[in-house]
Amino acid sequence: MTTTRILPRIGVLAIQGDYSSHAAALADTGAGPVEVRKPDQLEGLDGLILPGGESTTMLKFLEKHGFFETLGEFCRTKPVFGTCAGAILLAREVRHPAQRSLGALDVVVERNSYGRQIDSAILTAETGLPGGPLEMVFIRAPRILSTGETVEVLARRENFPVLVRQGSILAATFHPELSQDRRVHKLFVEIVASRNVR
Ligand code: GLN
Repeated sequence: MTTTRILPRIGVLAIQGDYSSHAAALADTGAGPVEVRKPDQLEGLDGLILPGGESTTMLKFLEKHGFFETLGEFCRTKPVFGTCAGAILLAREVRHPAQRSLGALDVVVERNSYGRQIDSAILTAETGLPGGPLEMVFIRAPRILSTGETVEVLARRENFPVLVRQGSILAATFHPELSQDRRVHKLFVEIVASRNVR
């Protein structure tokens, strides 16, 4: 029996926010990025990135265009990676203020949680990823207040999780697409590829 590894086709939700930086980061890793603006464009994709931006704006668009349910179904069956606003959309519960979310990732998040003075910061710290310290760019970041039992914490900021994985769902409260380091995107591509062996 032979197994063939197929280049994964990974979508980037391109409604609003910094989706083009994610597409560029994916291209760097060799995966084929596909911009997704309509529910039917999810068909045939092996994984999806939900970018940073403004989660309320994305949510309104998703609800208005009948996209919310299809996206929720995609998140239950395929690997997804949410950064910042994208992580907020994936969460089980959103606070400050409360808003609807896809409930795909067993975390409780608080939006804009670091206060006005330190709402944006670049930190470099050790993480669970091999290869030394990782640069992490935070922009009006949410804080992960709690995680469910099956959620693995890969990095922390002031003891709060900032990079988490639950099975084939990955989420960061920072913006790995804005740094040169591609380790986080590579991890996601590996998660997608490992589900894609025929
Ligand atoms: N503050 C934004 C929100 O609550 C997230 C910020 C970001 O994605 N950089 O949706």
